[in-house]
Amino acid sequence: MSKVSIGLRGWRFEEDDVFGEDGALKPLAQMPPEARQRVSRLTAIIGNACDACWLSEDEKADCNVARVVYGEPMGEVLLCDDHEPDFLYWFREAGGDEYAGEVALQEYFHQWFADGGRAPDGYANLEHVEEEPDALPEAPESGEIEPLEEELKGMDEEEREALDVDLSDLDL
Ligand SMILES: [Zn+2]
Repeated sequence: MSKVSIGLRGWRFEEDDVFGEDGALKPLAQMPPEARQRVSRLTAIIGNACDACWLSEDEKADCNVARVVYGEPMGEVLLCDDHEPDFLYWFREAGGDEYAGEVALQEYFHQWFADGGRAPDGYANLEHVEEEPDALPEAPESGEIEPLEEELKGMDEEEREALDVDLSDLDL
């Protein structure tokens, strides 16, 4: 089985878990619980601003849209391409991996970043990640085709709310 990202790099899914044989996204009810939780969370966070931009820009309109997501649903860290190295540095070199798999990871990264934590200039070596795929909550992969991005982005507020209703019915 191959792994795919949906909309944002970072979180990876087993293709068979989230796509049906017709190549379309499965209904949430047919996904395994963890995939369902993350896919539904994606519909809420795709298009949101980068956390690091949000923490550092006085003018919120200047924030970049996030391209990558790390961490756990409801405790995720959203990052633009410019700020991804800061997170990777924190995670690998500044003790962030201690919080892998925890919702608190978000809070600790925000704290570090807000206190002025930054990657050194030029720190953006993704090769290291590929060598150690388990070293990050989810290994990033760039340039992946994300056919569902538009579909998910195209959901209006009502559809998202409907999705939430479905989710509560599913007793998540
Ligand atoms: Zn940013």
